[in-house]
Amino acid sequence: MSIDLGFVEKCDAWRLESRFFPSKVGGKPAWLNLKNIPGEKELQCEYCHEPCIFLCQIYAPYENKEDAFHRTIYVFVCRKPECCKLNENGNLKVFRAQLPRLNEFYPPVPPVEEHDWRTDISTSKWVKTCHVCGIYAPTHCSKCKLINYCCRTHQIFDWKCGHKESCGTNKQPTKNSKFLFPEYEIVIESEDDKECNNENNAEKEEEEIRTYKKMVDEGEAGTFQNEDVQNELLSMCNQKEDEVFSEFRLTIDKDPDQILRYDRGGKVLYISEENQINEIPKCSECDQERQFEFQIMPQLLNFLELENALKCIDWGILAIFTCTNSCTSENGYSAEYIWKQDITETNSDNAS
Ligand SMILES: [Zn+2]
Ligand SMILES: [Zn+2]
Ligand SMILES: [Zn+2]
Ligand SMILES: [Zn+2]
Repeated sequence: MSIDLGFVEKCDAWRLESRFFPSKVGGKPAWLNLKNIPGEKELQCEYCHEPCIFLCQIYAPYENKEDAFHRTIYVFVCRKPECCKLNENGNLKVFRAQLPRLNEFYPPVPPVEEHDWRTDISTSKWVKTCHVCGIYAPTHCSKCKLINYCCRTHQIFDWKCGHKESCGTNKQPTKNSKFLFPEYEIVIESEDDKECNNENNAEKEEEEIRTYKKMVDEGEAGTFQNEDVQNELLSMCNQKEDEVFSEFRLTIDKDPDQILRYDRGGKVLYISEENQINEIPKCSECDQERQFEFQIMPQLLNFLELENALKCIDWGILAIFTCTNSCTSENGYSAEYIWKQDITETNSDNAS
């Protein structure tokens, strides 16, 4: 079975609305269940207690499960760099939603890919969403009562960023596009079968290292005439210290723009030997095991227009684990598990 890779592409915003079951990065979440959507409490960052911001969502139905005919996984992250701690996941949230083919929100036939098709299929018909971030909004502006917010922080933010001027006027409400990540479609392609070539190269490399190590052991390393060759082999020996990282590099070099790897029930492609997950918590809804479903790659960071490259959110990989049963929650959205593995100093030295 080949692995599915995700790539970002710009596309018209209307194509990324709930009615088309999108996989996407940035903007506001395109909720699948249009009614019971998570709010401030569910999405609270464990460190700063402000709501996490939508990062991406993957449409990934369970083919053989009637009540998961539609199924989407959502990932959220706290925007604050100071909440991003090495190998900790308190600034990240994952939710899973699913629906049977016959449900109260969508027709049982595939959507028609047209701009004006069924624009009534939207959360606005069912529930109020935050004007700033798109999650459940229990409060509104007390002056105009027209604009809704998930929390006081987002209300204050919006007030300062334009609502102060537009409140009570006919002016269009301001769009705080800078607050959210830029929006892209996620296009899925299956990973090419280029493995043979790379495996051969890796074997050759290993063979050379073995020979060199043997020479070092036997005190013959100095017999190399060419110092460059010697240095190169030495550095290869050092790199081998984290074989996991080399494997990671080798695998992603084939498709360097991949932002996501989808391999339900498969294995995580770790970025380092250190801080790999050793215990996956069971599903909090049905108590069944969780399994690996997909991982978000560090390449996605390049597309998020993060202002300050030195002080911004970061990750090595984000691995998402979901209920093996894909059980249906009464609440509409089930919390799932996410693991952040970071690249440590030693790794990045090797990378240079
Ligand atoms: Zn935070
Ligand atoms: Zn909000
Ligand atoms: Zn107002
Ligand atoms: Zn479950």
